[in-house]
Amino acid sequence: MTVLSVRNLQVAFGAVAPLSGVSFDVAKGETLGIVGESGSGKSLTAMAVMGLLPLAGGRITAGSITFDGQELTTLTEKAYRRLRGGRIGLITQNPMTSLDPLQCIGPQVDAVAVLHLGMTAREARARTVEILGTLRIPDPATICDRYPHQMSGGMKQRIVIAMALAADPDVLVADEPTTALDVTVQAQIIRLLDDLVKSRDLALILITHDMSVVAQTCDRVVVMYAGRAVEQGPVGDIFDAPQHPYTQALIGCIPRGLDDGARLTGIAGTVPTVLNYPPGCPFHPRCDRAEEVCASIVPELEPNATGAVACHLPGVAP
Ligand code: SF4
Ligand code: MG
Repeated sequence: MTVLSVRNLQVAFGAVAPLSGVSFDVAKGETLGIVGESGSGKSLTAMAVMGLLPLAGGRITAGSITFDGQELTTLTEKAYRRLRGGRIGLITQNPMTSLDPLQCIGPQVDAVAVLHLGMTAREARARTVEILGTLRIPDPATICDRYPHQMSGGMKQRIVIAMALAADPDVLVADEPTTALDVTVQAQIIRLLDDLVKSRDLALILITHDMSVVAQTCDRVVVMYAGRAVEQGPVGDIFDAPQHPYTQALIGCIPRGLDDGARLTGIAGTVPTVLNYPPGCPFHPRCDRAEEVCASIVPELEPNATGAVACHLPGVAP
């Protein structure tokens, strides 16, 4: 069942439009990946969904975001505050943007259930201890009396996940949740999120620049480039037969194991910044398939057999 839908989302900061034409759906019990290089608009999409754009000086200029049948783009900040951290949770890359360094862990997590579920302090603490246990945090009752700086990066990120879960959300938005962590801890956190999606029937929007994370965890994926969704579909189809040259390039960057030299090759050319998005297809200066039409006409996202693609000359790589 689809719980969150984004349609033709456009975002502007003054005269600059860093997002245009972003569309996707996410269902309960499903992980949707949003993938792209940095600067592609992934985090802005997350901010738009969380209703955080106005606080950063941006606004939604077109399109819609519906959650559980309710239009979010017209919500007041007051109404959004009830949703945010409540039915829609956010996990960011740096746990310290969510944690207060001066307050112990327990009260920080408790506060979420007090605010959003109307629990008493005692009820909230019991719930905190239970959630920390679910997240495989050893000795949760003791951890409640610790300060964030007494914990490792991986543990801090688990606490942030606990805060996001405390209000029993329907949707969790995770923006590069493992990027700041070392590889082993990354894998643990990814597995944990995966378990939570299944056991709590959560809809998870996982934002990442890493195609191998998408391959491991996502059911469906949206590929973003220069503020647009350029391809989307089930992960199996996207990896087996990517139709967009940019998706093909991203998949080509996944290191194939240590034997291969495990180099992250990267895609030739530079990522356009929002101040110089190319006309036509934004990928055309880097695309070896580009033809004349690509430099002048923006390809729209057109549905195909299992997903959608925005390219004048879609098809698997020759
Ligand atoms: Fe390449 Fe043209 Fe497709 Fe853009 S529209 S990805 S430039 S072939
Ligand atoms: Mg980002």
